Formats: sequence, C-alpha cells, structure tokens
Amino acid sequence: MISEKVQRIGASPTLKISAKAKAMKAEGIDVIDLSVGEPDFPTPENVKEAGIKAIRDNFTKYTESDGILALRKAIAKRLKDDFGLDYAPKQIIVSAGAKASLFHLVQALVDEGEEVIIPAPYWVTYPECVALAKGKPVIVPTREEDGFLLTPETLKASISPATKAIILNNPSNPTGGAYTKDQLLALAEVIKGEDVYVIADEIYASLVYDSFKFTSFAALGEDIKKKTIVVNGVSKSYSMTGWRIGFAAGPAEVIDGMSKIQSHTTSNACSIAQKASLEAYEGPQHEVQKMVSEFQRRRNYCLMRLAAVQGLACFKPQGAFYLFPNVRSFYDKEAGGAKIRNSYGMAYYLLKEARVAIVPGDAFGADDYIRLSYATSMTNLEKSMDRIVEALAKLKTAKKIKTVALANTVTRVRKAVPVDAGTDARMRDALVAEMEGHLGYEGRYEWNARVGGAVLQLRTNVAHLNDFWVENFPPAPAEADVRPHGVIYAVDGIAGREPRGFYHEATQTGVLVNTDHYGTLRGLALGLAMDISMRSGGGAAGAVRGMSADVDGRGLILVGPPGTKKTELFFGLLADPRFKLHSNDIVFVEIAGGRAAADRVERKLFMPTATVELDPRLAPLFDRSKCENVALHKEGCQDLECQRADDCRLDRGSAYCYKAAKEAHALLDPAWHGGPDAAARRTELKWLVLLRNDATSPAVVELGKDEALRTLEAGEAAGAKKALTAGPAQPYFNPHLLGGTPEKLEAQKAFFGRLLDTARCVLFNSGVAGADELKKIVSPGR
Ligand code: PMP
Repeated sequence: MISEKVQRIGASPTLKISAKAKAMKAEGIDVIDLSVGEPDFPTPENVKEAGIKAIRDNFTKYTESDGILALRKAIAKRLKDDFGLDYAPKQIIVSAGAKASLFHLVQALVDEGEEVIIPAPYWVTYPECVALAKGKPVIVPTREEDGFLLTPETLKASISPATKAIILNNPSNPTGGAYTKDQLLALAEVIKGEDVYVIADEIYASLVYDSFKFTSFAALGEDIKKKTIVVNGVSKSYSMTGWRIGFAAGPAEVIDGMSKIQSHTTSNACSIAQKASLEAYEGPQHEVQKMVSEFQRRRNYCLMRLAAVQGLACFKPQGAFYLFPNVRSFYDKEAGGAKIRNSYGMAYYLLKEARVAIVPGDAFGADDYIRLSYATSMTNLEKSMDRIVEALAKLKTAKKIKTVALANTVTRVRKAVPVDAGTDARMRDALVAEMEGHLGYEGRYEWNARVGGAVLQLRTNVAHLNDFWVENFPPAPAEADVRPHGVIYAVDGIAGREPRGFYHEATQTGVLVNTDHYGTLRGLALGLAMDISMRSGGGAAGAVRGMSADVDGRGLILVGPPGTKKTELFFGLLADPRFKLHSNDIVFVEIAGGRAAADRVERKLFMPTATVELDPRLAPLFDRSKCENVALHKEGCQDLECQRADDCRLDRGSAYCYKAAKEAHALLDPAWHGGPDAAARRTELKWLVLLRNDATSPAVVELGKDEALRTLEAGEAAGAKKALTAGPAQPYFNPHLLGGTPEKLEAQKAFFGRLLDTARCVLFNSGVAGADELKKIVSPGR
C-alpha cells in the first residue's frame, strides 16, 4: 500500500487531460488541445545551438548541485536588469524546472502542521506540494471582481500563528490576473508585521500585455526581500518547458536549505540545459517580445469570440497565456439528455461535443470556471472557438429532467464501529442508565422486531435507524405483550463520546453510542440473535454467513472470505431461472430430523449498491429502495479505477453513483429481483460451498466433515497462502459473531458439525471455475 499522503493527492489534472486529448488524437479524432501549459513556439535558435555546443564540448557530467556559477551569475544579472533585484549567486539555486524549486522550497520551509496560504484559483501543484511536506494548505478564495487577486484585508484575516508562508503567483495560472505595484505594496504592508515567508512564483513575469508593468514582490523593499523567495525559470519566457530549468532566489539560509534537499533529490539540473539557459538569459531578448505580442493578439481574438457567447463572461487577463471564463450559467443545462453539473461535466462535454480539451476550473479550486490556454496556433484557436461557441449554443435549459427521488440517507458515521463484546455487568448497568437518561421520551423510538426467532427491542433516538429497523426485520408483538429476548440501545448525540459499540452477553444487551450507521446496528442485531438462537438450540440451531440460493426446495450456500468472488458467483447462479434467491448475507438454521431448515430472517436484502456492477438490472430496483450512504458527490468516491480514468458519472450529470462508495447499501425487496417466485424464504440446506481463489487448485474438491470443520474454524480459504484473499482470518467467515470466547467457538463447531451431518461440503476454486461449474454441484447424481 502506498503512503496515505500520496493516496490523498491526485496526479496533475492538466497532464491527465492532455493525455486524454492525445489518446483521442491517436484514434484519429481531430481534437484541439487547449489544456496545455506551455508556449507553442520553438526554443530560440541561439539557445538550441548553445545546448548542442554543450554536448560537443562534453559538458555532459554532473555540475555543482546548485547550478553552474555562470548561470547563477546570469540569472542574478537578469533579475537586476529586469526587476531591479540584487542577488549574489549564492542566493540563487538552479533546479530541474520551477516545479522542482517550489517543491524543494516548500520542503525546506514547512514543518508538519504549518499553514501555507494559497489564494484560489491556484495552480494545481501548490496544495499538493504543501500536503506532501505535511503542511496545511489554507485555500483563500479571491473574487473575480477583484481581478482574482488577494486583497490585503483577506490576507490579513487568513494569517494565523501557524502560518509559515504565502504563495503568490503573479501573473497567475490559471486566471492571468496580475498585481500592480500598488496592489503588491498593500499586501507587503500586511506581510511586514508578520513572521511569514512569501513564495513569489513569477514564472510568467515576462508574459504581460497591454503595457502592464510587472513588479517583483522582492523589489518592494529590503525588509520584504528578506522574507521573499522568488521562483522563476526559462520554461515559459523562452519556450523551454522540456529543458527543465527553473530557479529560486532568496535569503541565503533558505537557499542553503533547498540546496541540501536538492543534493539528495536531483543533484544538479541537466548540464546541457544549464548551458542553453545561460544563453537564453545572456543572449538577445527579442524572441521574448515577439512571443508576447503574438500571445496578446491571440488573447484579444479569443476574448472577442467569447464575448459574443451569451451567458459566458470572461475576465480579461493581464498576463500568462490562459483565459478563465465563468461558465456557471451553463450548469444545469443539458444537451442530448446529459446535464452539465460542474466544471468537470463541462470539460467532458466540450471534449466530446466540441472536440476541444480544456481544464475544469475545479482543478484550480474554482468550479464555476474553465481554463483555456491560447498557447496554440491562430488556426487552432479559430477552429476551437467556432466549436466551443457552437457546442455551448446547443445547451438548453433542462426540461424537468427525470431525476429519481432517491430515498437515501447519508449517515454521519459511515463505517461500522467496533463493538466491545467483553462488556461486563457493571459497565452494562452504567451504560443502560446513561442511555436511558439521554433518550428520555421525546424523539425516542422503540420497536420490537423478530430476528431469527428472537424478539429484539430497539431503543433509539435516530429516526433513520428506526426506519431501517422497521423496514428490514419483521415486527414482533409489542412490549406490553412480550418481554424481548434482547435489547439494543442506539443513542446518538452524546457529547464527548467516541462512536462505539458494547455488548453484554449475559443480559443480551447491545449499546451503540454516537453512531447513526444502520450497517452497524444490523450487524449487532444479527450477532445478538445468533447468540440467542445458539443458546436455546442446544447445538441444533445456528447461523451460516453466506449467500444462499434454492433449487427445487434444496439449498446451496456460498461461504468464503472477501476476494473469492462470492457475489459474482452468486449472481451467476441467479441468472439461471432454476436458482431462487434465498439470502445474500446470512441464514438462520434449525436442524431437526436430519434436515437443516435455513431461513432468511430479514425482510429485505441489505445489499451493497456497488453490486450493480455485476447486475445492471439492480439499478432501477435500488432507485425504489431505501438506501444508506449512496454517494451524491464526487468527494464521496472511493472508486480508484474511475478516478484514474477521470471518468465520473457524477461529473457527467448523474445525481448519484451506486458504485462510488463501498459502504453504500440498499434495502432491496427480494421479490423485486425476478418476481416473488424467484425468491425463497426457507430452503433445506444441502450444500455448503467453501470458496477459495487461486490459479492452480482443482475447481471442485469434496471435503470430509473434519476437514470442512477445520477450514471453517480457521476462517481462511483453504491454502490461504497462495489464495488471493484479503483481510484477516475470520472464524466461520462470519463477521457478525460477537466476541470469540472459547465456549462460543466450541458451540459454533458443534453446530457446524451437526450441519455437516446433513449437508455436503465442497471446496470450490473461483480462480479456475465460474458459475457454470458451480451449478453442476446441484445436478442430480452428484
Ligand atoms: N508555476 C506556475 C504557476 C506554472 O504554471 C508552472 C508551469 N505550468 C510552473 C510553476 C512550473 O514551471 P516549470 O516548467 O519550470 O517547472
């Protein structure tokens, strides 16, 4: 498993979109890529020549880690000539691109938990860079009315004792907004009184338009210069993105820190590229001016075209080569039945409909916007503007879209909380008193349910838990008529308590504190009911955790750990009309007269909604079911595959996604899956199928009683070392078992022993065989 901090970050969205555009081009689709973040001009000839010369001169070895002195001197001179900045070469470090400088700089400055202020819209890399240094990115929104610039008031309000640095990107990627000297001075006034650094990313400094006068933050005075680290490079100004040369200039102490890090990461930047960059900085500068005037022409053209689009407003940037139009007014409109809900949806729509690749504003922390780069030829811009204008014109106000009113409850606690099965009598009494005290009578729900022959009473203040409880278990006589066998308290809203579960076996009392998650309540109820059933059944009653089907009154149950394709096989069986759906999780069994009668004890199937992946017909059924924790927003998505492919149905207009969240469940009526005749409530258990998943074992092996018992007891797939199974061992493959006392496990063994006297046990390898092979087990003659 990769580290948590890396799991949390995403790959650069701009690179992902460019990759997608390239892939479409490779398929022969004429896509215009406006997602690029680099000038489309060739690197100037003199610069290329200098690179070639470096190779000829064998300047192809390691250099000083901080960069060759000549280059650092040339950078110092350029900083002086262009921005009036004085830096000694030892205050400058050359790195493999400005990105590497930024990364090393943030690593050098920021300790765990320290805050870095990042005005939004921001360049995608900043928050990730801070997060990787274990710092805390503090995103501060700016307003389009303010030119997307940070105001002194907002800056002041954002600084806290934990603030270590502020990242100021001027001119900005993605907005193109740039600060005037006065605006910078106003920010500097705030900074002066604070113990913070300013990371001034000025990579677009030379790309400014309409005679805008660029001022470097470090040029605002000596005291400010001491707190500022300027980051710049040759990538944008000299069209040299691939050469990978950037630099940082700042206080010697900070540059020293970066230097230490760099000596352990990239060593030096490419020697050849350093020589080429030396030429870029020292040689003639007219190519830069040529590029700037061409960018200005293109910017003006695109602005003119976009201005004609009704409903679209585009900020006029002073620098860089991006446009950042507001497309909010197109959200909730649709074309061809697909509704656009956010900037990802807009990006997807423009890619498919207009064959233009752009970057969704959400990647920059501004979902109402999209980013277009005009670093491409005028011909491409003309074509892409035509296409964008046409595609946007097709978007119409959505007619009453057939949104399904999903009966979904998103719980505060999303996962099962641990239940302490070793709660003693004193603790139980204290807990019950506390719960009763907290419950009172207002907003209290009390309901007796029948769970596998036992009467369990729920006492709760969570409406959702009561709702699902009543829906899922059959009712039992009211409390005045019958004393419940067990009681479960589920009390939420107790200050100062962690979500937690408790179980006192002797009095059959369950307590759930501060959780509103039905999955936990259900698990506790089933565990409690199993205990009651085993206690009174004298070894002839118990429960089997697995997925069961009925064939002509005879039952088969699939039992195994995660990773053995249980659900897939189960749905494979159900596709055959001979197999009736019995239960998808647990059956309660009573053995009498040599027959094992197995019951589904729940009225509904508590089914992970991600099962739609195996049977798409479930989706409309889930639409009508009560659901828990179905994802309505992308933030709730855990599906790494979708995320990697950048293919999200929530982005493309769906109101919810059944597969995004692992914990999402529906309470599905079994009769809905194939009609009432396709479901059975009781079956006579004949086959216990233990699953394993490996590449080599035989498909089906008949197990003797002892061997079957051993496998069940261990709770690991047979030959688990080579089996592809996940998670720790689980006795009897049953996570609902409460506590694993020796007596309890002995009782399980006795029960399964009796069961195996009447049912056959086979070991089935899902790694080599599928449902068709499985079906043969129930064929007559086997
Ligand atoms: N800062 C900003 C704001 C940028 O847009 C980029 C490039 N997209 C960089 C830094 C990184 O530039 P380099 O290619 O030198 O790493």
